[in-house]
Amino acid sequence: MSRVFHIACPEGDLFAAAGEVTGRLRRAGFMTYWVGGAARDLYMQRTPADVDMVTVARPDEVKRIFPDAEMVGACFGVVLVKHRNQVFEIATCREERAYGDGRRPDEVKFTDDFVLDLQRRDFTCNAMLYDPAGEQLIDYLNGVNDIDNSILRVVGCPRERFQEDHLRLFRAVRFASKLGFELEEECQAALREMAGATAVLAAERVRQELENMLTGADPVRALELLKNSGLLKVWLPEVDALAGVEQYKKYHPEGDVWQHTLLMFQNARKPLDAALAWSILLHDIGKKPTFSCGEDNIPHFYCHEQVGADMVKDIAGRLRFSGAMADTVEHAVRNHMRFASVCNMRTAKLRRLLAEADFVMELELHRLDCLSSNQLMGTWEFLQARLQSFNSTALPEPLITGRDLIALGLTPGAEFKTILNAVMDAQLEGVLQDKASAIEWVIEKFDIKK
Ligand code: ATP
Ligand code: MG
Repeated sequence: MSRVFHIACPEGDLFAAAGEVTGRLRRAGFMTYWVGGAARDLYMQRTPADVDMVTVARPDEVKRIFPDAEMVGACFGVVLVKHRNQVFEIATCREERAYGDGRRPDEVKFTDDFVLDLQRRDFTCNAMLYDPAGEQLIDYLNGVNDIDNSILRVVGCPRERFQEDHLRLFRAVRFASKLGFELEEECQAALREMAGATAVLAAERVRQELENMLTGADPVRALELLKNSGLLKVWLPEVDALAGVEQYKKYHPEGDVWQHTLLMFQNARKPLDAALAWSILLHDIGKKPTFSCGEDNIPHFYCHEQVGADMVKDIAGRLRFSGAMADTVEHAVRNHMRFASVCNMRTAKLRRLLAEADFVMELELHRLDCLSSNQLMGTWEFLQARLQSFNSTALPEPLITGRDLIALGLTPGAEFKTILNAVMDAQLEGVLQDKASAIEWVIEKFDIKK
């Protein structure tokens, strides 16, 4: 039995283009609907980010109608069609059978029965059809009911469906946190039972799911679900271990390191940028291994930022971060304590700090760190004011270069860097303003014989 709801098709380029693609397939005799996130979001009065379609046309038939279609996953029935600068994923209506490895189906069988296609989908809210021409939402699996009750329900038996494809455990957490839904009870139980089985998944797919959650609407909820289900312990044991790591109440009235980390996510502006999200998550992971309690009976975490940064390297490798992301997060973690001393920094050092590529992100990490602990915002205010006092934080053109040193009769070598850095420092301090005085300064300071 299906239920049908009238829902107006939204205006805009994406939906106009999607309607044309659907119309062309239908006129060629192939029934086609919008499906998945698009149908769900339309019912929830959200704006879909993209429009995925399901059609009875086989991949080669889609290709005949759209000759430029990319046959990215033609063997399991998915092609990409570009129309009016929008890209649509068009899936051939299919059943999936026998997932031997917990990752992908062994067999895909095309069908003309849309209900069979909906039954292979993950959650009831993601298993509805939308007909843009008739402006009708068609619901066979009670997705609307679950959405009305804010429940994320697996299509079919959660244990079986999670067994087929272990990535669905992460998708469950992601959709629950994104949509603000409760996980249906059996789904919760299956998550806890099967978290360990996800270890076979490809790390980059899990990292992408985690990143989507951390940069999504409610990273705190996602982290709590990951922790309670046991998924966090499997994939990020270093973060899981932060619960129960007590801190000095005077500086951390909010609680242990886990609570502090969650509070930073709570206080962050959403959606978070991925590098900042990972930096928040990992900034204090060094606190667990460096915990010590001195005679003063106060918890200390000496060098936790260095230890934590080394742990980040390990995690970044394990979760297959891009090289750039790994470097950015490691740098943010390694340096997150230096903010404490900025107010006493010499101008040159401060200017170099402000000119660093990721300074703005690291400053935001610092703001959230303070806001989510002792709430002493003085350093952040000082840096924010300095940041705004410069038109550009980039370092100025150097007054002299290696060529000038060669002209002075010096031979290129390691000393060049020392000299040029010293000149730049003096320039930043306002001691040197022009090339001639810079050259004189070098001759005198480095005792160069003319
Ligand atoms: P989003 O708004 O995040 O894009 P979405 O629902 O569109 O959400 P996609 O990952 O784009 O999610 O997938 C599109 C649809 O394909 C899903 O709604 C779901 O019906 C189906 N789907 C995707 N991945 C799976 C999976 N691993 N198992 C079962 N069905 C899936
Ligand atoms: Mg989608």
